[in-house]
Amino acid sequence: VPELPEVETVARQLRPRLVGRTVRSLRIFDARLRNARTPRLAGRAVVDVSRSGKRVLIVFSALRGRGRPHWLAVHLRMTGRLIWSSRGGTVERDHLRARFALDGGSLLFVDTRRLGTMDWYRSPEEAAPRGMDPLSPVLTARKLGRLAGRGRQNVKAWLLRQDRLAGLGNIYASEILHAAGISPLREIASLDTVELRRLHRSMRRILRRAIEHCGTTFASFQDARGLEGSFQRFLAVYGREGGVCPRCRSTVQRRLQQQRSTFYCPDCQR
Ligand SMILES: [Zn+2]
Repeated sequence: VPELPEVETVARQLRPRLVGRTVRSLRIFDARLRNARTPRLAGRAVVDVSRSGKRVLIVFSALRGRGRPHWLAVHLRMTGRLIWSSRGGTVERDHLRARFALDGGSLLFVDTRRLGTMDWYRSPEEAAPRGMDPLSPVLTARKLGRLAGRGRQNVKAWLLRQDRLAGLGNIYASEILHAAGISPLREIASLDTVELRRLHRSMRRILRRAIEHCGTTFASFQDARGLEGSFQRFLAVYGREGGVCPRCRSTVQRRLQQQRSTFYCPDCQR
């Protein structure tokens, strides 16, 4: 499942290709994506493409100065891909769920398992996720501590809560905790100020480095150009059960937490 770095990669690649182009038509081939809030798009320009939590956010202008802009949030889920196809490029018809025809090319929403979603909003506030963005300049270590509050949840499960932090998933939660030297079994409320600062710093460092490498590719993530990320080469613990911890040479272990795998080093994560 694409997490923050993978979605950021897609948004960064689409932005220069889409911004400024005008929509000629939107065709939805999968009834599950049809929605009463879908606006008439023909004649609107793409104003911006960004990331909002784990979703790609596309902003469409008002119609020739009339009415209001619209915000589209696309969640890729398991296998969704947003692909830019310039004019004359081949249109991949298999698993095509929606096509935005723009001047000069098309934006395709391709999704084998059809779990991805498209949601329409009328303001950026409405489109914003409930949780804070882990890379937001407003999120300081102290603010992270306030978000954590007195929760009894283990820190790994807490990092996955999208109503607290929007964008983290299983891969980066394991990697961040390893980088911070914090055991995934700890209660979130038990972290002291120093540990919260370490968690905050590791979170930003890991996510930024993953974005630089266009994310992590496992089974199916591909970016907007159909290329794969390369951050998997830098994973310290995720998917490496029985391997050697790069920091202390102990053996990486896997354990189930909330029915999901957590990878960690029992020796240097305290
Ligand atoms: Zn270790």
